[in-house]
Amino acid sequence: MKTRELGISGRKIVWVDENIPLMGHIAFGVVDRGTNIIQVRPTTICHLNCIYCSVDAGPYSRHRVTEYIVKLDWLVEWVKALVKYKGVDDIEALIDGVGDPATYPRIVDLVSELKNINGVRVVALQTRGYVLDHELVEELAEAGLDRINLSIDTLNPVKARFLQGVEWFDASRVIEVAEYIARETSIDLHIAPVWVPGLNDEDIEEIIVWAKKIGAGKRWPALGIQKYLVHKYGRKPRGVKPMSWNEFWRKLRELEKKYNVKLIHDKSAFNFHEAPSPPPPYKIGESVKVRVVENGWLRGEKLGVPPRRDRVITIVDAEEIPLNTSIRVRIIDNKNNIFIAKPLL
Ligand code: SF4
Repeated sequence: MKTRELGISGRKIVWVDENIPLMGHIAFGVVDRGTNIIQVRPTTICHLNCIYCSVDAGPYSRHRVTEYIVKLDWLVEWVKALVKYKGVDDIEALIDGVGDPATYPRIVDLVSELKNINGVRVVALQTRGYVLDHELVEELAEAGLDRINLSIDTLNPVKARFLQGVEWFDASRVIEVAEYIARETSIDLHIAPVWVPGLNDEDIEEIIVWAKKIGAGKRWPALGIQKYLVHKYGRKPRGVKPMSWNEFWRKLRELEKKYNVKLIHDKSAFNFHEAPSPPPPYKIGESVKVRVVENGWLRGEKLGVPPRRDRVITIVDAEEIPLNTSIRVRIIDNKNNIFIAKPLL
């Protein structure tokens, strides 16, 4: 496990290798929510600073102290094991995360490795597109990428710079690459803007028209509009009041009629179904001995690994606990095999 101090805005980047299990953390590795979709999270890094970012990513993050990049072979090994456990032949490996996974240095190799796993039918990539160019897109297509879920909130370059929170963001470049993907490659495009009420209402309608025009959505729905949500550690744009779910669904239904396009999807649109998950090996309330191996993702957290090395555990309230020590922790959450614990002092 190598570390270096040159992370974005001085945050440390941890290169995650065999010393850290890849199930148990929300930010990196594999996330399994009991379906045939496995979330594959190779990196936490994002260079944007979206004003509504739910995961507080980017150069101006206020809560993050560490970024993680996962070693390719180690990540693939965990995905393989999980696919085998699930025992179904229509797994979607969705490369996503709490950063922009297209920044992963070996993204093409990752796509190719995932595509070669027996049981993986679809490989998809969630991105905001700022690192994509024609060459990378061609390489991703050749590696077998089936779909790009592209988040683009406006077609207006000035507004995009405001929403994405960085001066250098070039929406016209992302639009050009998106059109290239839709027209010239085998990769399907699913356009997934975040609707921030009061900030991009008209833009959402323009995006619907544009997505239809360029031919997004050949095998999957062309559009998946995301509702802006307030998260505990997320950024909250001043003056924005989130829509209620009722209002959101009502507006989507209106837009569906107006533009003759499907915006509300059922599970079948993405072949989404239940598939078995490994049971969490540690129960809530259980006391577990862990080795404290790294700094945690957010301030005050550390990463702990039990002797069985089967999960990574986020230890909260752990500011004062030194690395490379062994302590006992009490598990306080284990939902979806994502483990949070508190030190037992
Ligand atoms: S919303 Fe996505 S693209 Fe924007 S800062 Fe957050 S992680 Fe990066």
